[in-house]
Formats: sequence, structure tokens, C-alpha cells
Amino acid sequence: MTSKKLLVVDDEIGFAKFVEGVAEDLDFDVLLTDDPLEFGNLYSNDIDIVVLDLFMPNTDGIELLRFLSDNKSKASVILMSGKDAGVLHTAQELALEQGVKVLGVLQKPFRSEDLEKVLNKFEKVSAKSAPNSDNGGLPSLDELKQAIIDKELFLHFQPQVEIRSRKVVGVEALARWSHRDKGMIPPSYFIPLAEENDLMHNITFATATKAIQQQGIWKEQGTNLRVSINISPKSLYNLNVPEDLETYAKEANADISKIMIEVTETALMADVARYMDILVRLRMKGFGLSIDDFGTGYSSLQQLVRVPFTELKVDQAFVRKLTTDTECRTITKISILLAHELGMSVVAEGIETEADWNILDELECDEGQGYWMGKPMPAEDIPAWITRWKNR
Ligand code: C2E
Ligand code: MG
Ligand code: MG
Repeated sequence: MTSKKLLVVDDEIGFAKFVEGVAEDLDFDVLLTDDPLEFGNLYSNDIDIVVLDLFMPNTDGIELLRFLSDNKSKASVILMSGKDAGVLHTAQELALEQGVKVLGVLQKPFRSEDLEKVLNKFEKVSAKSAPNSDNGGLPSLDELKQAIIDKELFLHFQPQVEIRSRKVVGVEALARWSHRDKGMIPPSYFIPLAEENDLMHNITFATATKAIQQQGIWKEQGTNLRVSINISPKSLYNLNVPEDLETYAKEANADISKIMIEVTETALMADVARYMDILVRLRMKGFGLSIDDFGTGYSSLQQLVRVPFTELKVDQAFVRKLTTDTECRTITKISILLAHELGMSVVAEGIETEADWNILDELECDEGQGYWMGKPMPAEDIPAWITRWKNR
């Protein structure tokens, strides 16, 4: 096994030594300093983990995070602080926004077991991001490229239901990849892989045209279901997107007002002017605009107000804990209120139980999507599912 290098910076030398001891027990080579100004001298590109105290004299941990970001460091950081947890949380978000990986945050004082737990995560993370040859039986990048060429990717559609009336109003189109030997490959694996390797345009093109064609088919059959399409920030960056989608819709004789474009908040973080240009033109052409996974990104309220979104999707992370976690319930409630104030309709994703459904009904959420109503399925199964749902 190659050696793992860890650098700890803490003005309390006793604490730095404590971290050193725990890390050495887990076979890390440890460098240590109690002087933040020494950091630049000790840091090198082969350091795997930086353990950082946030509050230090002369320099603070935040400045060192910026240093790591500026140096495009591959190191993961563990943030520590003796002050309140809110600061740790904010520092963590700041790090992520700067592209610095955060392995964990630890509120001082902590036990050696707590630190061990975080350090052990490092092995798992590095095993996951190992090169193509050993990725736990998942297909390689080359296989994904071939699958795109061979048109092995297809769509499933998950129902979206109006909560008050129980009426089926739409579906979300979700990409699927069925590998010859390895079976169904999760999009959480192949979408990021495509994004990192400039393949996302091909997938977006294939899924968007298919989803729009399907809307045209449902329109002709008289159900005229709304179809939601996920567009990754990278694909959205292309200024021709509104015209292209309009062209597909016309060719498929689809109803543009029944096509919803889902974008995540990440899209709004960078190059606001350009995304705004594209989103506004999509809206002007009559497409619906949905903000996906709301609450998990970092968009400001101002951006949210400036983009003419028509729909907000509350992320399933909050919905799943509606019955057990009051914070998640509060976030959901506030998201619904905010959306309504801004004239948007709200879809809650990840409804898995009737109890979730009932709470969302109480909170006046407009629509729901989740396994409790229906899992993603092939387009041809949707009519039968609608019949079953009506009789339920
Ligand atoms: P998303 O857009 O937030 O899609 C919702 C995900 O939640 C889907 O996972 C769906 O199957 C899952 N889901 C829905 N209801 C439940 C539930 O009750 N419980 C649980 N546990 N999960 C539920 P899926 O299909 O694995 O997709 C994951 C993500 O992959 C999507 O998240 C989306 O970000 C991305 N993705 C999928 N298809 C495409 C695509 O065509 N283009 C782009 N850009 N991204 C896509
Ligand atoms: Mg989505
Ligand atoms: Mg989502």
C-alpha cells in the first residue's frame, strides 16, 4: 500500500499532537505545525489530508482553505473548531464552494474515536474514486462512450400527482442505462461520469429529444401529460439550448407549455448572466422552469427571484425525514411558503409513505413524486399505472 500523508495545523500544540497520535495509529505519515504561517512551507501536492483548526492567531483556517483552493489541492480537509457549530458548518460550505473536499468537521473537544471515524472515511472515498479498472463492478468510461453510441441509454418516467385532487399531472423523465452484463447502472454513477468527461451533451440531446417525443405522443393520445426533463448545468451553458428544444418540440408536435426544464441550483452559482439569458429565453418560448433539489445548493434568494422559475422541487433529503426531523419539516414548510409567495408551484420528491403525503397535504404542497405513488417506469406502463392509481 502507498503511504498516506496527513498535515495537521493547530496553534494548540497539544491538540496537534493528539491528532498526530490518532492518525499514526491508522498508518498515516504525519506532518505537524502549531504555526499557521508554516503551512505554505510544509504543504506539498502529495498530502492526502489536511486537518485544520479554524481559529488561529495571525492566519485563520479560512485563509488556508483559500490557499488549498488556489493551489488546486487534491487533499481532503478535516475542519476543527472549539467555537460554535454554525461556524464549522459555514466553513464547510465555503470549502465546498471553493472546490475543496471536506472529509469531516469536528467540534472540539472530540474523542479519538470521532477522529478515527472521519479518517477511515478517507480510505472509502479514495477507493471509490479509483481509476476505471477497479470501480466495484461498474462500467468504465469507455463502456459509457460505447453505450451512448449504441443508444443503450433510455428513459423511465416517474408520475407526479397533484396532492389535493390526486390527479396525475405529469412525469419526470429519468435516464436509464441497462448494461449487457452488469445490469442497471444508477444515474448517480453515469451522469457525473458523463459530466466530468464532456459526454453530457450527447446524453442531454438523446434524453431531451426522446422525452419531448413522448410528450407529443401523450398529447395525441389525449392525456397531454407534462414531461419534466433534467438538464445539467454544462448542457444548459450552450446558448442554442432554447432554440434547439423549441425545434424538437415543433418536430414532435409536442405542447411546449407541458415541457418542464429542471435545473439544479449549481447552475445558478457560476456565470449568472449567461444562465439567466438562457433560462429567460426558455421561459419566453413557453417552457416551464423548475428548480430541482431545492435546499441542497447555494443559490441566493436574489437569484431565485430573478430567474422566472415556475416550479420548485423540494429535495427528497428533506421529504424523507418529514415525520422524524422537525428541522426538515421547517425547511419544507418555508420552501413551500417561499415558492407560493413567488408564484411558483411546488413538487415534493421522495414521498415514500402515506404519512409523508399527509404532512405535505397539510403544508399545502401542490404536487408530489415518490415511490409511494409510483417508481420510474417505461412510458408504455404509464396508462395502466394511471388506471391503478385512480382505483387506489
Ligand atoms: P433528480 O432529478 O432529483 O431525480 C429524482 C430521483 O429520485 C430519481 O433517481 C428518482 O428515481 C428518485 N426517487 C423518486 N422518488 C423516490 C422515492 O420515493 N424514494 C427514493 N429513495 N428515491 C426516489 P434517479 O433516477 O436515480 O436519478 C438520480 C439523479 O440523476 C436525478 O435526480 C438527476 O439529477 C440525475 N438524472 C437522471 N436522469 C437524468 C438526465 O436525463 N439528465 C440529467 N442531467 N440528469 C439526470
Ligand atoms: Mg430532477
Ligand atoms: Mg431532484
